[in-house]
Amino acid sequence: MKKSILTIVATLLASASLSAAEWKSGIEWVEPPVVDPGPETAPANVPSDAIVLFGGENMDAWNNGENWPVKDGVVYSGKGMVTSKQAFGSVQLHVEFATPSEVKGEGQGRGNSGVFWGPYEVQVLDSYINKTYFDGQCGSFYKQNPPAVNCCRKPGEWQTYDIIYMRPVFNEKGEVVRPMYVTVFQNGILVQNHLQVKGTGHWHMPPKYDAHAEKMPIGLQDHGNPVRFRNIWVREISDSPVQPVKEDSPVKPADVFGSQE
Ligand code: MG
Repeated sequence: MKKSILTIVATLLASASLSAAEWKSGIEWVEPPVVDPGPETAPANVPSDAIVLFGGENMDAWNNGENWPVKDGVVYSGKGMVTSKQAFGSVQLHVEFATPSEVKGEGQGRGNSGVFWGPYEVQVLDSYINKTYFDGQCGSFYKQNPPAVNCCRKPGEWQTYDIIYMRPVFNEKGEVVRPMYVTVFQNGILVQNHLQVKGTGHWHMPPKYDAHAEKMPIGLQDHGNPVRFRNIWVREISDSPVQPVKEDSPVKPADVFGSQE
């Protein structure tokens, strides 16, 4: 009896130390080649159907926004993560960011933030001559896929993310019926192309889906670095890439082209 309790304790201790360790996929990625995206540009136009989450004046659209300082039309990553008060399903998201012009730290400690839909992170990092693990550099889908290329501008220069988050679909049992897909353009250059997401990135375990609501907030990460943001807007988009068809249309797209998810 005593022995079996000891065995249980030993097993618990082993699993506790396992869960405290960082999970690494072990995949040896090829280093993303460097591409010069050209000079920084003026803020992008805001489409007429977009919902502006940060237009330069205040962080009223965000939970915890009061802890992120706004100055001269720009918001600085502050204390704690901010999440949009409004939740969204599948979206097109535009974010402009600049990592600190004063270069401090290295690897994951330099200009780290992140753009989230729900629990899923597209990494923000100063990856301009700053090597880290490739599936954790700027433009990566954190710990799942490196960016196709490293197209970071210099520290302090404005950069853009245009992200399409196609939400995952869960059934009533919480099982994944359709996984999430993510497409990301950084500075107008494709870095994630319709990536099939394997789940939430956990620091200590492989990615895994945990069922959640259809609509989730947009989030910006506080990683202790004063990354700046401006001009943040979203457009809610359809869950289907196929356009709506008139109810009385005699032929449906699936009749001609087959079904498309
Ligand atoms: Mg991050």
